Amino acid sequence: MQLTDKMVGIIHYTLRNEGGETIDTSEGEAPLEYLHGYQNIVPGLELELAGKKVGDKLKTVIAAEQGYGEIDPNLIQELPLEMFQGVEKVEPGMEFHAETEHGLQIVEVVEVEQDTVTIDGNHPLAGLDLHFEVEVVGIREATADELEHGHVHNADEPTHH
Ligand code: ZN
Repeated sequence: MQLTDKMVGIIHYTLRNEGGETIDTSEGEAPLEYLHGYQNIVPGLELELAGKKVGDKLKTVIAAEQGYGEIDPNLIQELPLEMFQGVEKVEPGMEFHAETEHGLQIVEVVEVEQDTVTIDGNHPLAGLDLHFEVEVVGIREATADELEHGHVHNADEPTHH
């Protein structure tokens, strides 16, 4: 069995940054299940996994544009603090849902000054080259429900939407 569109890939992965620091890993946890061909994972990694079989291992570097995208400076904005009325204390690291020209997005507060708040709507991993080590530990056919929803269902999440 090979990983092709509409199959569920079951993978163990470790994601590191340029400096070799681990950003995310499935090590010590259940492997990640994803629906191949449905953009559940970053495009570059999905491309690399196409046609792989159980037991295949790969080590690859995915450029930012094939990962979480380049940093878009338009998504970094300085806003007047008075826009955050109702929030007791605005602090770096806080996340808000914001209505932007790209629709509803999660933005993170990166800096707070006297009267202004700088927010960043970029994905936290935008602009980074992604160093992946991946092992395919399973492949199965997707259920009709999974194909309809475009993502994998598992025991933790038996029924929803
Ligand atoms: Zn679903």
